[in-house]
Amino acid sequence: MASNRTFTMIKPDAVEKGNIGGILNMITEGGFRIVSMKLTQLTVADAQKFYAVHSERPFFGELVEFMTRGPIVAAILEKDNAVEDFRTLIGATNPADAAEGTIRKKYATSIGENAVHGSDSDENAAIEGAFHFAGREMF
Ligand code: ADP
Repeated sequence: MASNRTFTMIKPDAVEKGNIGGILNMITEGGFRIVSMKLTQLTVADAQKFYAVHSERPFFGELVEFMTRGPIVAAILEKDNAVEDFRTLIGATNPADAAEGTIRKKYATSIGENAVHGSDSDENAAIEGAFHFAGREMF
């Protein structure tokens, strides 16, 4: 996957609240092109692997439970400087710290249930995108 791509998930809280459309609108209005997209659900093993970097943190169990409790929207997005620009669009991890106009400011509930994921590096974007999508599902 080229470095002008990033990977996102609309997390279970936002799907439950009916915010898929609103979030996708902010993503496309933000200049991102959807390369791949699907509604899917993480298994416990998927979530433990995805968030392995946080496995020693006190919130790890809560995070895995949250991320597996219902469907997510997984997507690959394309834009110049995609990883950094998407992190700007989603805002700080804690919605209390998120800037006005960001997705998390508008749709996140708490530091844990924060509506969206955005990859933190080109390398992770490629790994995370390839986990969910085959080459023939990337357009
Ligand atoms: P980001 O998603 O902004 O890159 P992190 O990589 O630090 O943030 O954390 C991954 C995810 O773990 C967060 O998006 C959030 O869902 C959850 N998380 C982070 N910190 C906490 C916390 N203190 N309590 C509960 N959940 C947390």
